[in-house]
Amino acid sequence: MDTNPERPSAQPHDDEVVIDGSWGEGGGQIIRSALALSLVTGRPLRMTRIRAGRQKPGLLRQHLTGVRAAAEVGRAALDGDALGSGDLRFAPSEIVAGHYRWDIGSAGSTTLVAQTVLPALLFADRVSQLTIVGGTHNSMAPPFDFLHAAYLPLLGRLGPRVEANLQQYGFYPAGGGQLTLTVHPSPLRGYDLLERGTLLGRSAEAVVANLPLEIAQRELDTVRRRLDWDGTATLHPRQVPGPGPGNAVMIRYDFQHVSEVFTGFGQRGVSAERVAANAVRDARNYLRTDAVLGEYLTDQWLLLLALAVWQTGQAHSFSCVPLSSHSTTHLRIIEQFLGVTCTSDSRDDGSLVVTLSTN
Ligand code: ATP
Repeated sequence: MDTNPERPSAQPHDDEVVIDGSWGEGGGQIIRSALALSLVTGRPLRMTRIRAGRQKPGLLRQHLTGVRAAAEVGRAALDGDALGSGDLRFAPSEIVAGHYRWDIGSAGSTTLVAQTVLPALLFADRVSQLTIVGGTHNSMAPPFDFLHAAYLPLLGRLGPRVEANLQQYGFYPAGGGQLTLTVHPSPLRGYDLLERGTLLGRSAEAVVANLPLEIAQRELDTVRRRLDWDGTATLHPRQVPGPGPGNAVMIRYDFQHVSEVFTGFGQRGVSAERVAANAVRDARNYLRTDAVLGEYLTDQWLLLLALAVWQTGQAHSFSCVPLSSHSTTHLRIIEQFLGVTCTSDSRDDGSLVVTLSTN
């Protein structure tokens, strides 16, 4: 399995956590979360059957960059880090803060690579600065704006401060986008997230790179019409520079205790109206209940809150839309590494209250 003769090879270990990568959702998220938790706990990881059920199984560029980034941050011994690899052995030694730069070398998602190493760097002894090159607005991944407006503010309330900057947009297939993150570690303190609080604002931004601005304007018209927005909502069409063509429309709701971002990703052959309608559908699904966290924020919040519960030993709850298969898969990985378990109760409006605890 050894693929890099210059790095120490990871040996089988008694304390090794063994994960079947095809289990549950069976995608890239299992890899990222398992690496993140292996780094934080220091427990070695063996992962088999990585993305075995996917059309292109094994590690793709984005996953491979995440694996190597995790190995660098954790000064880890590593086997199996090759494109297409289905089998990985990862043994971290310590979490080392510093200046890191990773280039995915494709339009693979920079935000997903960031989320692989970010949890570990929250536990480092000093500030880290990350630069990641690749896609910044990819379908099926958090766009930069979601990371910035929805994910990082929740993380900030746990204690650590993370500043994010988008330096260059990157869209599929050209990539070439760039984000930077500055991570200020701090002990985690959990909190409950059971109410959205009052609505503070609604806005939508549509960005186009190397495409007519008219596309962004049509998307925003669709958003305003379909969501019945009056003149108080902000609509922002933008033409941005980038190495290739690309488009995304992001709908944002700011509440007192949470911000949510719903995204439609432009695709060749799909009309601007359809792209916007996809984002509107996600926004409506969220607004249908009183849940604080939408589908994507839920699966991403689970890992962060579980770390706070693990570190403090105190249980915490949040309300969310029904759990996706990403979330249920995530919960199993979290339990395996941290011993943090989940209970949930349905509310009349269709939302769930999820509690994480060490019992
Ligand atoms: P695979 O190709 O095997 O499916 P992947 O690495 O592309 O793997 P997933 O395992 O599907 O990724 O995980 C995608 C992650 O991106 C999830 O954490 C999900 O919450 C997040 N995500 C997907 N779409 C959005 C979106 N529109 N906004 C915010 N987050 C998103």
